[in-house]
Amino acid sequence: MRTSTLVALVFAGLVSVTATARAERPLPMKINIAPMPPPGLLQRAIPAPAEPSSRIVYMRRCPLGGCIINPGGEDSRNDQSSIAGAPRTISRFKQSDLVWDQLMSCMRATYAPFNVAITDIDPGNVPHYEHVVGGNSSTELNPQLTGAGGVSPFTCGDIPNAMTFTFDVYGPDPEQLCWTAAQEVAHAFGLEHEINDKDPLTYLSGPLPKRFQPTDTPCGEFQARPCDCGGLIQNSFRYILDMFGPGVPTPPQVTIKSPAAGKKVQPRFVVRVEAIDDTAVEKVELFIDGVKGTESMKAPYKLIAPDGIAEGPHTLEVRATDIQGTPASSTIDVVMGPPCTASKGCDGNDVCVMGVCLAGPGEPGGMGNFCQAPTECISNQCLADTTGNMYCVEGCDGSSGSCPDGFSCLASANVCWPAADSGCCQSNGSATGPTLFGLGVLAALIRRRRARA
Ligand SMILES: [Zn+2]
Repeated sequence: MRTSTLVALVFAGLVSVTATARAERPLPMKINIAPMPPPGLLQRAIPAPAEPSSRIVYMRRCPLGGCIINPGGEDSRNDQSSIAGAPRTISRFKQSDLVWDQLMSCMRATYAPFNVAITDIDPGNVPHYEHVVGGNSSTELNPQLTGAGGVSPFTCGDIPNAMTFTFDVYGPDPEQLCWTAAQEVAHAFGLEHEINDKDPLTYLSGPLPKRFQPTDTPCGEFQARPCDCGGLIQNSFRYILDMFGPGVPTPPQVTIKSPAAGKKVQPRFVVRVEAIDDTAVEKVELFIDGVKGTESMKAPYKLIAPDGIAEGPHTLEVRATDIQGTPASSTIDVVMGPPCTASKGCDGNDVCVMGVCLAGPGEPGGMGNFCQAPTECISNQCLADTTGNMYCVEGCDGSSGSCPDGFSCLASANVCWPAADSGCCQSNGSATGPTLFGLGVLAALIRRRRARA
């Protein structure tokens, strides 16, 4: 369907004799085949430049009045684009601040292995690559760009002060925007399309976010072809590394969300951690008085304190390590107390679940709060019963006192559920409701359908 009409990628005659423009389709193709090359294929003939013309990529978010683009030779310092045939206005990027921030962090993560800065602050009159994001129609830049998701000039080498573009045609989807933005910027460095579906330079759908792959990959859009820059394969990661050199490792940011500093805790208490990184967090580890307890490889990070911690004060350290091996840690003091019971032993808004004090109905996001998505819950678990009541839940095992007063342990799901007559939580739910649905699964199904519509 769409596949056949959008393979025309090179808009010859759009630009000066030294460059052709690369325009992208607005939506990913539904093709997932990314064949690996046989060994010994020819590397592209034109190597990476020894030095880049700049180490700054300026991500320009088009504001309310739009981005003014001037025609002429490629020069980001004067907002001049060789693709604009006349003075143009790229209209406002309509997506939210959140989408923009996610696009920026995705772009930073994508380029983090290399010594190049991704910024959305205008660097002014210094050499820089500029990536313009906006435009409710791809033809705002050039009438010939119908159906394009992004565009870049292309010479097989570095284009100093290049102006590249991602159009606002993907909706509030930061990873789709990031895929196109990362690809257009890389075209200005001299990289062409390749058929690895994990790499931003691909046209193939497949996993998101896409990251530059240190893999020899055939050039091509939907099937292998000789590289426009000579040879049969390119290695995007190696090319950018050769051009810019390696990036500076930056430690993750790690925050202990619970328990609070100085808090009384109970045996097998839960430590919830937020860890973020410009590349990716590899693992989060829990140390008690310097002794490693447990670790978690997957966000949201939830670590259960090991057995055998004596009552009294202890030092709790959480250590996050990113994929480059750079660690960061956060430390608090806690006081180990005896296990709580369903009716006593917890302070403030906490309630006792399985002998551990956890945030209860009085705490936003605590157990028993209404929810619509797991992210609204401190436990990261939001379940619905058959009548449509949705609550933040915590796990229980059905033993006597495993749930606090006002809750009962639902045997069907092993979670504490508001009891029907408790008066707790404005509940009209039923403690015997047999079927609960995890909202994470539901959300994934809805999202998939929408993406293919
Ligand atoms: Zn492209």
